[in-house]
Amino acid sequence: MAPTTTPAKPKAPAPANAYEEVNALFDRAADRLNMADETRQILKKPFREVTVSVPVRMDNGKINVYTGFRVQHNGARGPWKGGIRYHPEVDLNEVRALASLMTWKTALVDVPFGGAKGGVGCDPTTMSSLEMERLTRKFTARIAVVLGPSRDIPAPDMGTDGRVMAWLMDEYSSRRGYSPGVVTGKPVTLGGSRGRITATAYGVLSVIDAYYAGRGESVKGKTASVQGFGNVGSYTAKFWHERGGKVVAVTDVKGGVQNPKGLDVPALWAFFEKNRTVAGFPGGEPIDNAGLFALKVDCLIPAALGDVITAKNAGAIKAPLVVEAANHPTTPDADEMLEERGIVVIPDILANAGGVTVSYFEWSQNLTQFYWDEDKVNHELDIKMRRAFAEVEKIQKKEKCSMRTAAFMQAVQRVADAETQRGN
Ligand code: GLU
Repeated sequence: MAPTTTPAKPKAPAPANAYEEVNALFDRAADRLNMADETRQILKKPFREVTVSVPVRMDNGKINVYTGFRVQHNGARGPWKGGIRYHPEVDLNEVRALASLMTWKTALVDVPFGGAKGGVGCDPTTMSSLEMERLTRKFTARIAVVLGPSRDIPAPDMGTDGRVMAWLMDEYSSRRGYSPGVVTGKPVTLGGSRGRITATAYGVLSVIDAYYAGRGESVKGKTASVQGFGNVGSYTAKFWHERGGKVVAVTDVKGGVQNPKGLDVPALWAFFEKNRTVAGFPGGEPIDNAGLFALKVDCLIPAALGDVITAKNAGAIKAPLVVEAANHPTTPDADEMLEERGIVVIPDILANAGGVTVSYFEWSQNLTQFYWDEDKVNHELDIKMRRAFAEVEKIQKKEKCSMRTAAFMQAVQRVADAETQRGN
């Protein structure tokens, strides 16, 4: 006999890792786009994955053998593009997830790149500069065959910086001839772009400005808490403060500091430069991550590792706005909880796309050998970020969905169109 009630839709099994989590976000958008199964298969799977062994002679004379990855996710819209991460927790599924996010991020801000990511499982905080250089040169040598200015272009990410990009360029160029366009985030003296170091945070503030402007508001007088004080977190705090907003709490790996009246951000910067941590800053009281996430602020900005907003702490979040300056800081179940509670999340692929946008400017400056001043970089960056934000808001209103789903819809459609037009 036919059942009288519709059976409950079987719940999809919870994603097992970061890569599956990103694919679940992809599927949510693909469902709304009525995307055919075969197109989904093409768009989800990485094009190429390279795993290399990286033996490095350490300063004590012994050899450590590290494992390095480069995952090229989708290259339909241009050369693969994405950072290289040096971190003890680097694993292949995480690199796949981050490579996939790069595909959607570059499509969303409409820069002519695909998505890639790389990483080496190591702890740069315990390594000397010479050890880092030897590691970078060996890793570059072993993945050089899949790199190139019109093939795959790395950039800085967690644990890497302009210095590492300079070694990468030098190592690659020693094989193929002078190739500044093989990597972005280089020092300005070696063809880096002005404004690249501040770019991600600058873009974070561009979308926040656009968000508040649409509501007749601004950052001035608003409170924020920032998790992470690396490149992105430190500049985000600085720019928030410069706009007349109050940064009331900041944490990093070693601890944190809060001050409900607003931290003195320039003094915090000076303290960090000396102590390499915000913990112990005398202009406030100590706070940990759990305390930071639960603060009653206007805006919460995760700017460090992935998977930090989880089902365990999402219920405690009191901020009406979460801006994902980090990559993949929110787990899918936490994301649903925030959505149910009416908390607006500006997703990573939109909020932190300023970095890769200025990487695009850097690459194009390298190809033309015509260099821009910082005002031009920031102006063009602001235009790109605001345009992407407006496009996402438009889809979000039409579809009545979260900003994340709207952002994925826009990005996934662009990549699908490129695949189809190329005949795949
Ligand atoms: N690592 C940055 C990101 O996750 C920048 C990537 C790039 O510029 O290629 O977006």
